Formats: sequence, C-alpha cells, structure tokens
Amino acid sequence: MNESRLRERISILSQSLYERGLTFGSTGNISARVDGGWLMTPTGASLGEIDPERISLLDEQGNWVDGDKPTKEAFLHLSMYQQRPKAGAVVHLHSTHSVAVSCLADINSDDVLPPLTAYYVMRIGTLPLVPYFPPGDRNLARVVAGLASKHHAVLLANHGPVVAGKSVEEAVFAIEELEETAKLFLLLGTSRLKLLSPEQIAELKNRFPTDI
Ligand code: ZN
Repeated sequence: MNESRLRERISILSQSLYERGLTFGSTGNISARVDGGWLMTPTGASLGEIDPERISLLDEQGNWVDGDKPTKEAFLHLSMYQQRPKAGAVVHLHSTHSVAVSCLADINSDDVLPPLTAYYVMRIGTLPLVPYFPPGDRNLARVVAGLASKHHAVLLANHGPVVAGKSVEEAVFAIEELEETAKLFLLLGTSRLKLLSPEQIAELKNRFPTDI
C-alpha cells in the first residue's frame, strides 16, 4: 500500500472507531509503518476528523519529521515498532470497557482477560497489565518496551490498551476484539465461567499462530 493510500486508511479507520464510540474527545492514536519511519494521528486531534495530509510523520527513532505535531503518547508506538520488527501498525485507545477492566483490583496482571472466545485467543492471546505511571513518566516507556518484545498487546493500568498488528486493519480489528472481550468479561461478572481449555487454546495457537 502506498503512503497516500495508507494515510487515507488511517483516517477512515480512525473515523470509524470514533463514530462507534470506541474513542472520544482527542483520545486514542493510530500509527502505521512506512519506509524510514511511521505515520501517526497528531496530538489534540479527534479521531473523528483526521486530515490525511496532516498526519504526523516520525522517523524510526520517533523524531518528528513532518505533518502536525505528534502526540506525547508516541513512545508507546515507538516501543512496539522497535521491539517488534513485523509490526506494521499500532493502535492505542481509551475504550471504556478495556479501561474499566484495567481499573479492577483483583485481576491477573500477567494475563488480564480469560480465554472466553476463540477469536480473542487468536487476535490477542495473552494480555499483560502495565502498572500505572503518570503521563510522560519515562518508566512507562521502559516497562512497555520490556513487554513489547514478547507481547503484541498490552493493557496500561487505569489508562487503556496498546495493540500492534501487521496492518492498520489487523491492529484495529484486534483492539476491537479486546474491547468486546472486556465488555463480555464485565457482563459476565461473578458468574461461573466455562473457559476455553488449555488444550483448546493450544490447538488454536497451533492452527492460527500469531506472527506479528
Ligand atoms: Zn492514552
């Protein structure tokens, strides 16, 4: 996909996420790798109205090269690109149900959500929780970079998910699967659950390996 087409895809998918309430205000950001760096939705911009021409361009080290000023959350994307050579795109949202789960006290921080459905296991698999740090704290970048080498999806405590994919579409679909699974998890509450068994999960991972 050439760069101008990619800019259009970022704008269209951003608007789609915004219009379906998966992001709000000026929260959330989408990025995609291009030759020599990556494109990212700019700071202060609503994902509902991203101008493809004004999308930020950063180099491989995360320095601002062109377009509108990038968001200060750019380091979340940089960590994924630096640790995951096959990642072609990264999406970060403050989507309500995922954030709600990230605020729960008694969750497994090694893997936040249970294996409720095959599609969750295939698109996300394991979801570690990144401890809370205030915005801009360099420790957040350090911890995310440490986890990104092993995981294409992480959940920032009291904040929201960050998900990488091979393409913008894949990253968006995966973060939507995460949000819907978080919604199911909250909906099920304290009911006794029938989860996918370790054997069923192993079969899925064997048949549909996540190779991002
Ligand atoms: Zn954020």
